[in-house]
Amino acid sequence: MKAVTWQGKRDVRVETVPDPTIQDPTDALVRITSTALCGSDLHLYEVLGPFMGKGDILGHEPMGIVEAVGPDVTGITVGDRVVIPFNIACGRCAMCAAGLQSQCETTQVRSEDKGAALFGYTKLYGEVPGGQAELLRVPFADYGPVKVPDGPPDDRFLYLSDVLPTAWQAVRYANVPPRDSLAVVGLWPVGQMACRVALHLGIGPVFGLDLVPDRLERARALGVETFDVTDGSDEAIDAIRERTDGRGPASVIDAVGMEAHGDAVGKFAHDASGMLPDAVAAPTMERAGIDRLAALRTSVDLVRRGGTISIVGVYGGMADPLPMMTLFDKQVSLRMGQANVRNWIDDLLPLVVDTDVLGLETFASHHVALDEAPEAYHRFQRKEAGTFKVVFQP
Ligand SMILES: [Zn+2]
Ligand SMILES: [Zn+2]
Repeated sequence: MKAVTWQGKRDVRVETVPDPTIQDPTDALVRITSTALCGSDLHLYEVLGPFMGKGDILGHEPMGIVEAVGPDVTGITVGDRVVIPFNIACGRCAMCAAGLQSQCETTQVRSEDKGAALFGYTKLYGEVPGGQAELLRVPFADYGPVKVPDGPPDDRFLYLSDVLPTAWQAVRYANVPPRDSLAVVGLWPVGQMACRVALHLGIGPVFGLDLVPDRLERARALGVETFDVTDGSDEAIDAIRERTDGRGPASVIDAVGMEAHGDAVGKFAHDASGMLPDAVAAPTMERAGIDRLAALRTSVDLVRRGGTISIVGVYGGMADPLPMMTLFDKQVSLRMGQANVRNWIDDLLPLVVDTDVLGLETFASHHVALDEAPEAYHRFQRKEAGTFKVVFQP
């Protein structure tokens, strides 16, 4: 089969690799029909090289048609249309039972002290072959895959793999009181989707902060009050305070994480790790943090006293200096973590099956063949104008 493989920093290639096979009785094989490129794939492309193996298959946002199932898979059958959650969870352990599938105790990568294994996401998360490929082996297929109806185009369901449950969890964790306000820092796909979810749930006003005109325009079109924060001044924060009786929004979602710009400490570690041999770079990066903390600092500044910050951007470092004094003084609640995809599916299916209330069919900016993946990664990494969400169609 053809698959998008990692070969080195900023070097992905489409290669022909052996087809996956059923290895465990709970496996399924899925013929991929759509598979998205995620902002977090850029971390692999750019800075997480020390945790990658040459030839690793990328991708964690796939859907397709079931081609084969192991003898213990009962929930899905050959020919079913399914979306695959990015976290691999067993559905039987205490964590899964508690709705914390991203902490599944069966697939936890204990050798790395990490939570549940993920598709296509480094040695830290199990080095499981990913979904940017023609075929995908899905472990625990008796629990993970989400069956969706025939009829609507793939784009209606594809984002159930990651973006939609991630955004949904971010909004739920933000804990916005009824009819109160929310700010979303970072308007890339997850932040953008969080705005859609929030507006759908009747939260408002919703404020959106970013520095890329395309993204601000997309959010504005939804009814989000947008603020360009390119100049790094406090103007946006002042304006949002003014709109919220001087207090700030009840809740803030930090949807930027490592995608933020302009943080000197983060940038230093980011660049430095690229110049070191892998064995040195890996621990340096985990300890120093490749994070861009500007977005988190903005969130802390912005949030109302007594409010909640919901962090959805990936934070990958171990020694990030949190502004603890301010967090304590403002009595801020913090919630964060990888999306527990399976936990939210029952809430989300009604939003995507009968109608397209969240506008998912027009969410992607590009649909391209799998062969065009190297070029798409390149364009996406350079954040070329209009490159918002890329969907590969193998
Ligand atoms: Zn993703
Ligand atoms: Zn589990």
